[in-house]
Amino acid sequence: MRYDYLIIGGGMVADSAARGIREQDASGSIGILGADPDAPYTRPALSKKLWTDPDFGRDQVSLDTASDTGAEVHTGTRVASVDRSNSSVTTESGERHEYGKLLLATGATPTRIELPPSPRVVYFRTFADYRALRELTKTADHIAVVGGGYIGTEIAAALSLQDVKVTLVTSDAVLGGHMFPPTLAAGFDKGFAGHGVTVRRGTKIVSGAEASARVQLQLDDGSTVEADGVVFGLGVRPETELAESAGLAVDDGVIVDEFLRTEDEHVYAAGDVANYPD
Ligand SMILES: Cc1cc2nc3c(=O)[nH]c(=O)nc-3n(C[C@H](O)[C@H](O)[C@H](O)COP(=O)(O)OP(=O)(O)OC[C@H]3O[C@@H](n4cnc5c(N)ncnc54)[C@H](O)[C@@H]3O)c2cc1C
Repeated sequence: MRYDYLIIGGGMVADSAARGIREQDASGSIGILGADPDAPYTRPALSKKLWTDPDFGRDQVSLDTASDTGAEVHTGTRVASVDRSNSSVTTESGERHEYGKLLLATGATPTRIELPPSPRVVYFRTFADYRALRELTKTADHIAVVGGGYIGTEIAAALSLQDVKVTLVTSDAVLGGHMFPPTLAAGFDKGFAGHGVTVRRGTKIVSGAEASARVQLQLDDGSTVEADGVVFGLGVRPETELAESAGLAVDDGVIVDEFLRTEDEHVYAAGDVANYPD
């Protein structure tokens, strides 16, 4: 298969890129190869609208990329390598696709600890993670959330709207202290406590273990948190492996210029995977 425009990664950037290409080129073929089992969807809704807006359902997260742009979206398709000398990529299942222009839009991967993902352990990033967490809330009495950044606090807030006890572990002395000015952080912190969230401040997770349908988290102040499940929001790292093995320059992301061009005139990178001048 050959596409005029081939996009690796089926996330939000893939959707935006397909729309952008269509504004410039009405007929060029667009292929999207995405490892996610779901076609491109609006990721921010996973920690916000899907929990807070009763009129916003799961059927509304799709970005309708294929029908709006004519792109061929291959879900559940992970690209294993890029061969720039032949302008082609090969998927994990051995399919080869050629490109005119290639966009790397592989996003970012959540930071994990040594605790493997399971129905009780969610490193929150994908629509599938959202569905897993919703399932967990049906049976769990207590869920721990680790990470006091945007993902951790949004998920803790979302869970506090459910019939479940929530403990939020943050390394901040005041929740939100690393994101907001002190007075705003103080109000933010108070808001969580006011909504029944137990906030464990100034401490980091050291290790975790899952046993007997429970998750036990060891904290660096010597204490433990035990819950029916845990959600991690510990930050992300750019998914740069493909670019690195294709010989492209990488430094905390694929290095691109202000037009999102790599050093290869046929290869671009955008979104969470890119390191662009800003
Ligand atoms: C819960 C949540 C809420 C958020 N809320 C906000 C917000 O309110 N505001 C905001 O600005 N940002 C928000 N973000 C961040 C925002 O969603 C990301 O910046 C954005 O999704 C990045 O888009 P992307 O296409 O670069 O990466 P992604 O959306 O992560 O998509 C990358 C895709 O590439 C796929 N992929 C990776 N490697 C391969 C491979 N080798 N082959 C094929 N496919 C591959 C992945 O499976 C993934 O589907 C949020 C993030 C999360 C997780």
